[in-house]
Amino acid sequence: MFGGKQSPMNSRHNPSGNRAALIAVGSELLSLGRVDTNGVWITERLQRLGIDVRMRTIVDDDEVRIAQALRAGVEHADVLVVTGGLGPTDDDRTRESLAAAFGLELTRDEALVERLRGRFAERGYPFHDEQARQADKPASAEWLRNRVGVAPGVYLEHEATRIALLPGVPAEMKSIWEEELAPRLTGLAGVARRTATLRVAGRTESSVDREIGDLYEAEGLEITLLAGAGELTVHLIARGAADEVAAQRLASAKQRLTQRLGADLFGEDDASLAGAAGRLLAESGLDLAVAESCTGGLLGGALTAVPGSSAWFKGGVIAYSNELKVLLAGVDPDLLAAHGAVSEEVARGLASGVRARAGADLGIGITGVAGPGGGTAEKPVGLVHLALSGGGEEEAWHLNLPGDRDAVRRRAVFSALDRLRRRLLQR
Ligand code: ATP
Ligand code: MG
Repeated sequence: MFGGKQSPMNSRHNPSGNRAALIAVGSELLSLGRVDTNGVWITERLQRLGIDVRMRTIVDDDEVRIAQALRAGVEHADVLVVTGGLGPTDDDRTRESLAAAFGLELTRDEALVERLRGRFAERGYPFHDEQARQADKPASAEWLRNRVGVAPGVYLEHEATRIALLPGVPAEMKSIWEEELAPRLTGLAGVARRTATLRVAGRTESSVDREIGDLYEAEGLEITLLAGAGELTVHLIARGAADEVAAQRLASAKQRLTQRLGADLFGEDDASLAGAAGRLLAESGLDLAVAESCTGGLLGGALTAVPGSSAWFKGGVIAYSNELKVLLAGVDPDLLAAHGAVSEEVARGLASGVRARAGADLGIGITGVAGPGGGTAEKPVGLVHLALSGGGEEEAWHLNLPGDRDAVRRRAVFSALDRLRRRLLQR
């Protein structure tokens, strides 16, 4: 999957002070469907500081296991960040585990207890005795002020490792990170880092690789190409002695790539292709309707995932059976009989039919064989016909897509959105 290369200078670049370990504490994080989003967020923030995460542990609310994870973290990392388990309840064990892991003693900060008591009184909340646990820390540690919630973070240095305990609540964790912890870690790795992702459509890895070849040599820049379902992402990491240097290198790389990729570049970071097409629809004052067969609503789903899509998306139909292709999208039954459901003629019929029925400026039709069954020699699995109708122009194209059912459907949606985007760019 990784088609890119890294310049040797960057691969070797490994100053001390740049290894991190993360621990997420919380039994609930180990249940199905729960994700340690704090760890993802912190990893990105550490990267900006030039610090790499080497180890991420998720541990339940057990004092012994948390202590074990803490010792392993100190052994392997210069920076150890722990989230969760700082609250007042009995299952919040992170402070005690820290003390147990490193033979430290917890002392209660009575001045902090009084401040917390005061804050509770101001808001009219009762202050229960167990709240005072949040004022316990080893004598050698500092408090990290929590402006959002109650429990402050804890910061200490132990055997050359900087350790931070932060609350599990994401908003509290982030606020303490920005205000209290990031300043303490800045400059530690001796290198700053900025990252960006550029999103590209209609290009293969090797064509982009050739095009940007000389950028691989740029100082302090690392480029990785990653192919997805139709989409190619260019991941950029710029490093520098100071944040401004890294930011400048990233900006210059982005500028050069933007020039070379031209209209194939559709967005940055979290941008989506549907969002890019939607923005162009909004700018041109046009609206859209879709008729989907093999994608079963995925195109409509992608379009309506864009906030504000009601301004330019009228809606669509899932015309899966031949009957509904006629009934809802107005496809001529003779075309279906003559060419079959998966054909250029029917794709055109879906696009123009749904456009007319919806009274939309533009219409898209998709019909194909998503597989794994249903393929024939003439119409194999992965064959998808698409059409875009409106604006005085009607175009149809087809794809022979590799991959499983899921991949075929996602690539078909990607292709439809990209054709729409390019049509709007030409206006
Ligand atoms: P509190 O003072 O609220 O008890 P805490 O430090 O004890 O905070 P937890 O009780 O572990 O934190 O978690 C509080 C909330 O934050 C829970 O809703 C939990 O789902 C969420 N949370 C905890 N850890 C994470 C994490 N690693 N990623 C995302 N959410 C988290
Ligand atoms: Mg808690």
